[in-house]
Amino acid sequence: MDLKNLENNWVKEFPKPIIIAGPCSAESESQMLETAKRIKESNAEVPIFRAGIWKPRTKPNGFEGVGTIGLGWLKKVKQEYGFKTATEVANAHHVAAALEADVDILWIGARSTVNPFTVQEIAEALKGTDKPVFVKNPVNPDLALWIGALERLLGQDVKNLGVIHRGFSTYQKTKYRNIPNWQIALDFKNQYPNIPMLVDPSHICGNRTGLAGIAQEAMNVGYEGMIIESHCNPDEAWSDASQQITPEVLAELINNLQIRNSDISVFDDEMGRHRTLISDLDFNLIELLSQRMKISEKIGTLKKDNNIAIFQPERWKIITEYALQKADETGMSSEFIEKVFKAIHEESIEVQNNI
Ligand code: PEP
Ligand code: MN
Repeated sequence: MDLKNLENNWVKEFPKPIIIAGPCSAESESQMLETAKRIKESNAEVPIFRAGIWKPRTKPNGFEGVGTIGLGWLKKVKQEYGFKTATEVANAHHVAAALEADVDILWIGARSTVNPFTVQEIAEALKGTDKPVFVKNPVNPDLALWIGALERLLGQDVKNLGVIHRGFSTYQKTKYRNIPNWQIALDFKNQYPNIPMLVDPSHICGNRTGLAGIAQEAMNVGYEGMIIESHCNPDEAWSDASQQITPEVLAELINNLQIRNSDISVFDDEMGRHRTLISDLDFNLIELLSQRMKISEKIGTLKKDNNIAIFQPERWKIITEYALQKADETGMSSEFIEKVFKAIHEESIEVQNNI
């Protein structure tokens, strides 16, 4: 059995788009039940309720999840409101406890996907389960590692699989908490069209304002659904407060999503993917230009402090020569690259002049 010919029939049980919503973390029984009740009452089509029981945190001494007591609250959410339930598992003990508590869907978090030993341990603990298991992309932009995690699950006869695109870590400060790098997720989708892909706008954005845009973009390129954080009192959430939304805001977001028909023309689908990739590249271009200008400003300060002329013809010659050589190597017109670099250089001089 190969990842490429998995049937993934579990998907047919859910309306499309498949939506998983609920708090980042389970905090108390009342927080879980109130969130579930309000999602239900909002009438948004949310068949699956999420909550983190064990929370991987960047630094120690923060809230690391309520632990197994929260599994009982998930069970209550299922009994009282009829949701299927989903949680993250990060080691064999979590798997045993989650299976014992009959959680319906499990996911492997981004910080676990990076570690083959961890994924192997989780896969072995899950051996032969029919429950759908989602793998979040690893925090680093490594497609092979993401695929490797799925292969480890399949190696243990876990055949109901899905993936979650939650964005990638970056050291740069950007408007995203985790930059989307759509290219990697779309490469995955092209290679494994039979493995359902959900978007996680909450962890990509890290804020509330960007959620709808990211969710819509994912729908435009044919994702099967999304996992999104919703909390009855987002501002007071014990983890990821700034990105969580109330059930009512969630319902509005879901109702505003434009879902294309599945008989959508191949043209539209392909166009959507190309446009998303172009936006991704534009985002990176602007980020890089902004980094370049900041460094240029530092150079400007050094020049000023040491009384050196701003324009250094020798340096400019090296820059243009390199740019033209790169233009040639990449098959771009040298006139075009020269124009672009002149504009960048002019701006850079302007920035240094303003110091
Ligand atoms: C989460 O879903 O709350 C979570 C911890 O996500 P990630 O693994 O994507 O960081
Ligand atoms: Mn979270």
